[in-house]
Amino acid sequence: MFQGISIQQFNKFFKDEDSCKQYLFDLKWKNGYRCRRCGCTKSNKGKTRFYLRCKRCGYDESVTAHSMFHKLKIPLLKAFGMAFRLSVKKKGMSTTELAREFSVNQKSSWLFKRKTQEAMKSSGKYLLDTKVEVDEILIGGPQSNKRGRNKGDKKLVVIAVEKVKGNKIGRAYAEVIEQASGQCLKPFFERYIDKDNAQIITDEWRGYWPLQSEFEIKQKPSNGGKGFPGLHVVIMNLKGWIRGIHHHCSERFTNGYLNEFFFRFNRRNFLTSIWHKLIERFMTSLPYSYKADAI
Ligand SMILES: [Zn+2]
Repeated sequence: MFQGISIQQFNKFFKDEDSCKQYLFDLKWKNGYRCRRCGCTKSNKGKTRFYLRCKRCGYDESVTAHSMFHKLKIPLLKAFGMAFRLSVKKKGMSTTELAREFSVNQKSSWLFKRKTQEAMKSSGKYLLDTKVEVDEILIGGPQSNKRGRNKGDKKLVVIAVEKVKGNKIGRAYAEVIEQASGQCLKPFFERYIDKDNAQIITDEWRGYWPLQSEFEIKQKPSNGGKGFPGLHVVIMNLKGWIRGIHHHCSERFTNGYLNEFFFRFNRRNFLTSIWHKLIERFMTSLPYSYKADAI
């Protein structure tokens, strides 16, 4: 597992396409081989040394098949490098910066970044528990304080932050919602918050009332964010980052940026494994459909 956090370490470890393919090969079949077609666990060498061919049915599988690296339009070495920057660099990188640094065209850079954001989507495995603070915010577009309606160009986003030992901030998640109603807030709560072990604190917004039958929710005045200092800091960081890179974009792409921000945020203390985790996601996620991205 590559654990470097500097570009020098990265360049030393990955020198060419083969070193990248070997890395994926070791990752893909680390728990042994199993044919996707027939389930056989015995294999021979395939078309190249980065393929395995089933001994029983002859299915030849490449190292990138059935992963988000499948049919990648750019060299793996560049993709690895871009994923490295997007995960290890505190604020990530814009598509323009990536295109320039890796000598790829703007479209390739844009597509790869979308793909990366998709891979960065939460697995939903780590639910927030103990003390969880929740709020909704508006991001993008000019300022306005109306909640649940008249969003204009802005996106309404619900954000949840977990407070851990010593009142420190633990993990956090956020997602675009249509309105700040109980109905729209509920799927987010169910996806990210542990129903049985979380004491949730929100401001006094009525949208949370319908959720009180399922979740333990306490409400208190927000006092312009002062009532929720930890949450407020995360919101300020998120807004600052979004302001720097975020142009007008659809709900789906706003969620992509939120995935990216919180993937890094939730691994801020695990920088040596963040890139590897991202590559693992690329390998276990289904091939990404470029067509779905037509805008
Ligand atoms: Zn087979």
